[in-house]
Amino acid sequence: MDDTKLAVSAEPDQRPGSQGDDSWLITRAAVIGAGSMGSGIAAQLANAGVSVLLLDIAGEGDDRSAPAKAGVTRQLKAGGFMHPDSALLVEAGNIDDDIERLADAEWIVEAIVEDLDLKRFLYRKIEQVRRAGSVVSSNTSTIPLAQLVEGMGDRFAGDFVITHFFNPPRVMPLLELVGGNHTRRETIQKARRIAKIVMGKSVVNCRDTPGFIANRIGNYWMSVASLEAMKLGLGVEEADAVMGQPFGIPRTGIFGLFDYVGIQLVPLVWGSFMRILPAQDAHRLHDITKDEFIASMLSRGLVGRFGPGGFYRRKNAAGERVDEVIDFSTGDYRARTEPDVSSLGAIGDLRALCERPDRAGRYAWKVLSHLIAYAAGNAPEIADDVAAIDKAIRLGYNWTYGPFELADRVGIDWLIAKLSGDGFEVAPLLRHAQRSGGFYPERGSYLRTDGTIASPSKNPGLSLANLRRGTQPLRTNSSASIWDIGEGVVCFEIHTKMNACDIDVVEMVEALPAIVKSGFCAAIIGSDNQRAFSAGAKLDTFIEHVLARDWASLRQFIVRGQSAWLGLKYAPFPVVAAAGGLALGGGCELMMHADEIVAHSELSAGLPERKVGILPGWGGVTQLLLRQAERLEGVAAPAAAFATIVGANVGGSALLARDAGFLRPQDPIVMNRDHLLPSAAKRAKKLADSYVAPAFAQIETGGGEVARQLMATINPGMSLSPTDVRIAEKLAWILSGGEGGGILSEAAMMALELEAILDLVEFPETLARLQHMRNTNKPLLN
Ligand code: NAD
Repeated sequence: MDDTKLAVSAEPDQRPGSQGDDSWLITRAAVIGAGSMGSGIAAQLANAGVSVLLLDIAGEGDDRSAPAKAGVTRQLKAGGFMHPDSALLVEAGNIDDDIERLADAEWIVEAIVEDLDLKRFLYRKIEQVRRAGSVVSSNTSTIPLAQLVEGMGDRFAGDFVITHFFNPPRVMPLLELVGGNHTRRETIQKARRIAKIVMGKSVVNCRDTPGFIANRIGNYWMSVASLEAMKLGLGVEEADAVMGQPFGIPRTGIFGLFDYVGIQLVPLVWGSFMRILPAQDAHRLHDITKDEFIASMLSRGLVGRFGPGGFYRRKNAAGERVDEVIDFSTGDYRARTEPDVSSLGAIGDLRALCERPDRAGRYAWKVLSHLIAYAAGNAPEIADDVAAIDKAIRLGYNWTYGPFELADRVGIDWLIAKLSGDGFEVAPLLRHAQRSGGFYPERGSYLRTDGTIASPSKNPGLSLANLRRGTQPLRTNSSASIWDIGEGVVCFEIHTKMNACDIDVVEMVEALPAIVKSGFCAAIIGSDNQRAFSAGAKLDTFIEHVLARDWASLRQFIVRGQSAWLGLKYAPFPVVAAAGGLALGGGCELMMHADEIVAHSELSAGLPERKVGILPGWGGVTQLLLRQAERLEGVAAPAAAFATIVGANVGGSALLARDAGFLRPQDPIVMNRDHLLPSAAKRAKKLADSYVAPAFAQIETGGGEVARQLMATINPGMSLSPTDVRIAEKLAWILSGGEGGGILSEAAMMALELEAILDLVEFPETLARLQHMRNTNKPLLN
């Protein structure tokens, strides 16, 4: 079997009851410290269904657990929980009254203030009460593990690791894992599995060195990029433009990032680095804590976005929004200008930019040269291989490429020649890369930090990107492809922008049954696109037909989609949707026609068609009604579907999609995005063993009386415009089975969906909504 194809022994999925070794599957954890990190870590554990005891210091008022409770409230406000009910899994307490309850926890995460003595004091208390074999971890961002466990005894040291989460823990995928000399292998393995499978994190193994990987390199980059910009006379917005697109760094660049994280962290975080870094560390030559300009900003309270201003400031002048930046020469604010980013070139042109003699070019090279020299010089100390460093920087700082990937892109020979020309000592690892043909000499292989080459993994896991490198799809067109992913399973992949469904996607769905029949047993629908399962039907085709008043073509477009999607439901093989990111409109409808949906926890599903003046037309109303009827009786089922579609809301998690009825209660949810396709493939394969296509559905509808009941649920608080009310009336009409009601087939229900849309598109408000959405990506509430 091709290595890149489905391996049945792939990482087990996250559901309780999964086969194999599940000693990692914890049900009770404790988090100590309910600040920004501790409360966020507790929330993410609760999102995964783990019960959490969250402890902070004892409060001084009547409620001694108030500090920890405040942490839960903050996470509820900040979106740390995937569902409000998840907060019920977090029990707040305090370290004085509840310490003994740590004995229940299988994993204890320490996330108190960054103070070695306080942490050690706490560990001694934990050690007296914790159960044998429980894992204890610290979320420290800088303190080496060896110092944390000093004098703690073998039992504690054996069960102790550092699990360094990034902020906010729900959103940031990176987790740096550090084991010490005395940490037991099983402890590291268990921590890795909890982090990966239960909490959905991408784990990078780090050595026990100051700041680990991402911050060691990232904070250095922040120092160099800010100090050099000031030295070379670049403006704030100019420096950010150079750092942004050409380097493949988020648009916040360097100064926008400082404003985001808070400039007040400079003395704390960078100060801590200056205390713990080795004496000869190059970071000391760019000591931002000594920078006078930044010190003067801090003395004026200019800490960034969460203060009166930072490097950027937005103010209101006579009702007008004015964007300003700080001027490095005067310390005053001036109007923000937009530098010509296009003149800086795209990321592919970073080398050309570095060759330019102007300010932007000299700045780009200064930052790139220091970054690569520092990363290559320190790599052997901080990581096993360059891939770990690149991954940590990509995930921890949202860069498109890590430093070694950037180095390969600009060319190692060019880099070495230019570094030598500038008097840099060329790190041995760079020489190794030169001899090997790059840090990534061939696809999948990479340099270890001792200079040897690691070969491509034998089982890199199921990803379409991996498949694409070695094989051809079974069938493809410009919008979709069908892949053999092994073990008799095919993957239907959409690859348009945001995976929007156009007529080519429909055509490929139509082709799927014949392909599966030619020697396969099951299909999954999914892709590597992290942002979207499918953001919906492509509006262009729809709008073209409406503009041309070509109702015949519009009707054909809708009917073709309806029968293609319905064909999947009744195909003689199982279809499993692997849904992550956005599943909206036509994409949500496609998903609901699958036998089973394996959802990533961060799935955002919805049927927001009302906002573009129409209703779901590819079977969305029908399938949502059927799904609701599986769990609700009588008029409650159409009422729930009505509320969801009129509400047009998009739930921000798989748990909310389950509430809305898009997922069935038994549809599995995986926390780790990398596990989505393999889990769906395993489910599809399993279903195929005894698959029988479902019997055709019969839908009981209530006619005019039910339609009136549905309309009566509309209230002024919903702020619906007359256009919205007209759409709601059409929806009530479909859900009640048209005028007559009675028992309808899916085909009959979908004919009503079609008729409703064809009526709605006659109204000018609908066309205005459609065009507004296409042009601005925002709804028009006419
Ligand atoms: P924070 O100041 O927001 O929260 C710390 C919490 O710990 C406070 O609520 C405090 O009352 C509580 N606390 C202090 N001593 C305690 C004790 N003895 N027992 C119980 N509770 C106690 O800090 P934070 O930003 O959440 O950081 C916590 C840890 O995570 C630190 O080690 C920090 O270095 C690390 N970290 C922070 C970030 C970040 O971005 N903030 C990122 C990664 C790691």
